Amino acid sequence: MIVVDGLHKHFGGFHAVDGASLSIAERSITGLIGPNGAGKTTLFNVIAGRLKPTSGRVSMAGEDITGLTPHELFHKGLLRTFQIAHEFGSMSCLENLMTVPGAQLGETLWNAWFRRGAVAAEEARLRDKAQEVLKFLTIDHLADQKASQISGGQKKLLELGRTMMVDAKIVFLDEVGAGVNRTLLNTIGDAIIRLNEERGYTFCVIEHDMDFIGRLCNPVICMAEGKVLAEGTVEDVKNDERVIEAYLGT
Ligand code: ADP
Repeated sequence: MIVVDGLHKHFGGFHAVDGASLSIAERSITGLIGPNGAGKTTLFNVIAGRLKPTSGRVSMAGEDITGLTPHELFHKGLLRTFQIAHEFGSMSCLENLMTVPGAQLGETLWNAWFRRGAVAAEEARLRDKAQEVLKFLTIDHLADQKASQISGGQKKLLELGRTMMVDAKIVFLDEVGAGVNRTLLNTIGDAIIRLNEERGYTFCVIEHDMDFIGRLCNPVICMAEGKVLAEGTVEDVKNDERVIEAYLGT
């Protein structure tokens, strides 16, 4: 689904991504691991359109998507989860899902004035969908809670929920497990597996928790110093000498 070919991202003289090539198979849950500073987040940012690459190419289903904006990628179904922005903290979880930029009719003044009935129907549809998403993620009891008041793990679920409000094809998840307790991490893992199996989502996940990676991901790609070092099952990668050396070196 995604092919990254000879990607470079330089910051001044520093090569954060230094000729990385990899592919992400359709309907896989691909894990991206590597020591701190390996270039994982920078790679994500380039794929997801937040940073322009210095050189190299990214394609999606055979189409060149190098340098497209996050907005353009969003419409192709390529999404990256982000922390719920500060300004959305005072909104309820349900409202947070309903404001996902999509094809809401109410966005234009024309529709707001002249097609009130259609806008109301659209809002009802969005509300139903948001409720269904919260239920899927087992956080429907949080519908009316302010996003700023839920726990870190619940926020991660809500972020995942935002991708479900549109028809995502591939979702990039950055450190889902950071600061999340084990029970909630399992719930997040379950949601990812179900989205993958039942809705055909492809995932690429950066994560440090090897149990989580082991449970969810195949294959696992290990990066170090801006390059892909190893790829395979979690066991293959964990036992790869170059990988062990890269982790020990940090
Ligand atoms: P990882 O996610 O694997 O920990 P990063 O992609 O965050 O790695 O960072 C790779 C390297 O690039 C790090 O050494 C980091 O300091 C550097 N880096 C990341 N973003 C920038 C930036 N905007 N300007 C300069 N250096 C950066």
